[in-house]
Amino acid sequence: MRIGAHVDPVDPLAAAAERGAEVVQFFLADPQGWKAPEPRVDAAALIAADTEIFIHSPYVLNVATTNNRIRIPSRKLLLAHATAAATVGATGLIVHGGHVGSGEDLAIGFDNWRKTFAYAAEQGGFATRVLIENTAGGDNACARRFDALARLWDSVGEFDVGFCLDTCHAWAGGEDLLDIVDRVKAITGRIDLVHANSSRDDFDSGRDRHDNFASGTIDPDLVAAVIRAAGCPAVVETPGGTEGQSADIAYLRERLAQ
Ligand SMILES: [Zn+2]
Repeated sequence: MRIGAHVDPVDPLAAAAERGAEVVQFFLADPQGWKAPEPRVDAAALIAADTEIFIHSPYVLNVATTNNRIRIPSRKLLLAHATAAATVGATGLIVHGGHVGSGEDLAIGFDNWRKTFAYAAEQGGFATRVLIENTAGGDNACARRFDALARLWDSVGEFDVGFCLDTCHAWAGGEDLLDIVDRVKAITGRIDLVHANSSRDDFDSGRDRHDNFASGTIDPDLVAAVIRAAGCPAVVETPGGTEGQSADIAYLRERLAQ
């Protein structure tokens, strides 16, 4: 299994080398903003590199929402990021599962997801496979609890959608990590990427605060077991910069070698 990290977008290949990462994930635009991604001068180097590349879409996107002033730009920006991700040779584009407002019907959120893929198909399809990521919080999330995830997949499964499993989000979201890969695969049929993170918070806290394996609340052996069972690349999205992430990567490699 290839192990790596979410890194700063300034020089992802240098950041990967510093960490001993075989996989890198980064943003192509401000994660808190609505700007379209700019072409990258290092696109050719990124494509040529042995390092596998994943792109994370901005956090502000919510294709599930009933608010069309958020939903429509989210849909368009997701398509733009998929196009841009292809120019750097990315394997996948990660996007959070999104949510509807409190008191609103989740069925609308699932249908908005279906419309997102239908819209993209009309535009020629996503240039990079979209990986929907499970999220940690909220009672109206499309991909926190796996009963909701199953309904989401009923809506989008026909579109060759990928899945990204975040261990911190699953734990904080109240989904047991012990048999989680089997439970996910029973719904999605696949896991394309693991976000291997510990958590600063307790099980089912609903809080999204990542932590390093040495200090977090999740048994690190469980995270390693998830990666092994998933059999796909994994990236740490943990704090502490080069030092913190290098230690987390080394920990996972050591456990996976056993
Ligand atoms: Zn994540």
